Amino acid sequence: MPHDPRVPISESRVPQDLSYILNHLGEGRESYRGAVSPPIFQSSIFAFPSVEAFRAGFRDEFKRTTYTRGNNPTVEILRKKVAALEGAEDCLIFGSGAAAISAAVIASVSAGDHAICVARPYSWTRAVLRDLLGRFGVTTNFIDGTDVANFEAAIKPQTRLIVLESPNSMTFEQQDIAAVAQLARKHGIRTLCDNSYATPLNQSPLALGIDMVAHSATKYLNGHSDVVAGALCASETILREVFKGPYMTCGAILSPHDAWLMIRGLRTLPIRMERVARTAREVLAFLHAHERVEKIYFPHDDANPQFGLTQTQMRGASGLLTLELRVDDVAGVERFCAALKRFLMTVSWGGYESLLFPVAAVYPADAPLHPPGGGLPLSLVRLSIGLEEPEVLIADLQQAFAAI
Ligand SMILES: *Cc1c(COP(=O)(O)O)cnc(C)c1O
Repeated sequence: MPHDPRVPISESRVPQDLSYILNHLGEGRESYRGAVSPPIFQSSIFAFPSVEAFRAGFRDEFKRTTYTRGNNPTVEILRKKVAALEGAEDCLIFGSGAAAISAAVIASVSAGDHAICVARPYSWTRAVLRDLLGRFGVTTNFIDGTDVANFEAAIKPQTRLIVLESPNSMTFEQQDIAAVAQLARKHGIRTLCDNSYATPLNQSPLALGIDMVAHSATKYLNGHSDVVAGALCASETILREVFKGPYMTCGAILSPHDAWLMIRGLRTLPIRMERVARTAREVLAFLHAHERVEKIYFPHDDANPQFGLTQTQMRGASGLLTLELRVDDVAGVERFCAALKRFLMTVSWGGYESLLFPVAAVYPADAPLHPPGGGLPLSLVRLSIGLEEPEVLIADLQQAFAAI
């Protein structure tokens, strides 16, 4: 159902009965002798009592358990939970977010087709569209997604897919999701939205009319920096198509053990998100007042140029924010990063621990997979706020600013 603009999203779209989804949905405790934590079905194959049952197993590998490349009971628990969080009919779990996005894209286009994607998607989203599918006769336009008119202008008769990432994971540009979804439907174009930044708790693209929602579950959904995983939520019809195509063909599945870890990580998603959002606000207030901060990127900052859109299509905030340091040269960025003690310097985000990514100082601007597509200031530093005490993080930032 496309979003009715008269209904405030904040009231209408929060996944219903969150604790039921996270604690109980999909868990057949009665068949595991009451085990509260689900078993890890560490089995590649599932045996059948009769040829008839075997036949049925093969007829519907999407739903039944025949071979773990298709479905596995532990992974199935996770499918049900993530689908319910996104308000989707079903979900497929992948071995990475990149695999989930690639599968959604590959299932939706053929040689000669055209796709439209936002200008600064996740680097490997750009790679699958431009580099991989470019070799197979698919063309893609990367456009500034902050204006819906740019999507309309880019549509061609061969356009089959629109790829959104709202907000994206470096500078957090947003798209008016409901408006793009409506435009796409009018033209019979399928839509995919990467919802990793917001999580299902803070934004519901399917409710806004999007066809497929992808997650890097490596980030907030798992939340513990110990699993790389992906999820794709959509209607059963679309997912069966993805399943028969790239899911079974490429085999980029999540192992039952990693699925179990993800189920465990997911249990605390609401409490983790609440905490990082609250701490991010305190950190933000500190950053706004500091003379070493040139610019702040954060969707829920009322100084953000798209704050109005944030308020209409997102609910709570997350804990990922970016700043431009006021420094003379890259050596100043390096001193700041080296001085931080409580932020680990690395890629990725969304874990229990605070992280730091000096993106443009790490990647040469002309690197083929420069994350934001180049052109960003060298002083750009992304912070992923973890579960530490806010005072600890602020004190750490304070002394690192002094070290510049
Ligand atoms: C990390 C990330 C991905 C890719 O996910 P992996 O799990 O690393 O494969 C996709 N989209 C966004 C926004 C990301 O941050």
